[in-house]
Amino acid sequence: MSAVLRFAPSPNGRLHLGHAYSALLNDSVARRRGGTWLLRIEDIDPIRATPENVAGIEEDLAWLGLDWPRPPRRQSEHMREYQGGAEKLRAAGLLYPCGCSRGEIAAAVAAREAETGQPWPRDPDGSPLYPGTCRHLPLAGREALAASGRPVAWRLDIGRALAVSGPVSWRAFEPDGRVWSVPASPERWGDVVLVRKETPTSYNLSVVFDDAVQAITHVVRGVDLEAATDIHALLGAILGLPEPLYHHHRLLTDEAGQKLSKSRGSLSLAALRQAGETPEGLRRRLGFA
Ligand code: GLU
Repeated sequence: MSAVLRFAPSPNGRLHLGHAYSALLNDSVARRRGGTWLLRIEDIDPIRATPENVAGIEEDLAWLGLDWPRPPRRQSEHMREYQGGAEKLRAAGLLYPCGCSRGEIAAAVAAREAETGQPWPRDPDGSPLYPGTCRHLPLAGREALAASGRPVAWRLDIGRALAVSGPVSWRAFEPDGRVWSVPASPERWGDVVLVRKETPTSYNLSVVFDDAVQAITHVVRGVDLEAATDIHALLGAILGLPEPLYHHHRLLTDEAGQKLSKSRGSLSLAALRQAGETPEGLRRRLGFA
């Protein structure tokens, strides 16, 4: 079976150096394995994914000298499929509706901390774990909430999900070929939101679904997503999806040692290009000469 990889940016801004590194690494691993990589536009966020940003991604990648099969998969065109995935989990009793606002969650967490005098546990991204308010609703309460017409999110009941999946692990690989098994602890994320209030899916649900639909064999992405792989492996196990191998690469930092990110206005490829940077120079700078 030949390798299929993917580069899956969210079009929330222009691509920066870190994206270029990730895309070039995907291309290089695909070539080494005689395989290919696909472009996936992760545009489930209806507000931030603008047409200019989507067009910018293809422009920047082409400028880098990369090539991929057209058209790319756009997540916004597959919402029904993600809803189908959520429906399966709902039917298995693994999702519950949650009407809590951020403020209500923060207040519930503060109350628990005051009560116990202990810090409330946080997920790997530093957000407090969901305190379970809506998980405790009786069935009639859940049904009333789901039918109320107020925006609800659907959360994964992580305890039940793990009871169904049993112990979860995923396989890591190095570009040199080494493969090993990594035990996963999805419970450190708590009851994650799989269907958001404002869009009928979430990053975690759609990424797992798409990696399966696009028959991805090797996922190469930043180490900032390594912890989320535990949730992806859990969902894959429950939904019976094929398991890709994962490689989480280092993140590029700026001179101050800060992670490059779109939100901090890191140098975009477009700005570098305007300033006279060449694709060859950039490849050299990133170690892909
Ligand atoms: N869309 C994600 C991002 O831009 C990457 C998702 C992934 O590679 O799994 O950070």
